[in-house]
Amino acid sequence: MDKFQRSQKDKLFKTPSHDPYCLQKVEGTAICSQCGAAYQAGNWTWKVPENTVIHDAQTVTCPACRRIEDNQPAGTLTLTGSFLLEHRGEIVNLIENTEKLENADHALERIMRLTDSEGALVVTTTGIHLANRLGHALKAAFKGHTDYQYGDDEYQLSVNWTRDE
Ligand SMILES: [Zn+2]
Repeated sequence: MDKFQRSQKDKLFKTPSHDPYCLQKVEGTAICSQCGAAYQAGNWTWKVPENTVIHDAQTVTCPACRRIEDNQPAGTLTLTGSFLLEHRGEIVNLIENTEKLENADHALERIMRLTDSEGALVVTTTGIHLANRLGHALKAAFKGHTDYQYGDDEYQLSVNWTRDE
């Protein structure tokens, strides 16, 4: 991790980010009725530890599924530049693989949509950590230029990545 990445990471963790979609109180263990993620000890996870008592599990909808239903992304990554047009396949592969890695450990970090818009590729995510990680992955793999804009009081992150030849 270089200095720039570290400063971005510090900034991310210092930002008071209260995800409005995470304010729903869940007591005990719960399972998302849409995706099957489990709520356990304050976290949403794909793995329900052994010895977990699930018989009193509540059925709820997890914050990621609710964001997808409402089409309310937390992160937006916008890719532009001529490099994108020539290497779209590789770039999309990197984005999808990065999502898999992030999502395996963080059940609420998901890609919502990939949309082509006037020469740009717009990727929306259910969590700001995934948007941040995608920005760093693109920069590491393809260089180019990234900038990160955090919402002041909302749980929001916009990342722009661009590369021209
Ligand atoms: Zn869910």
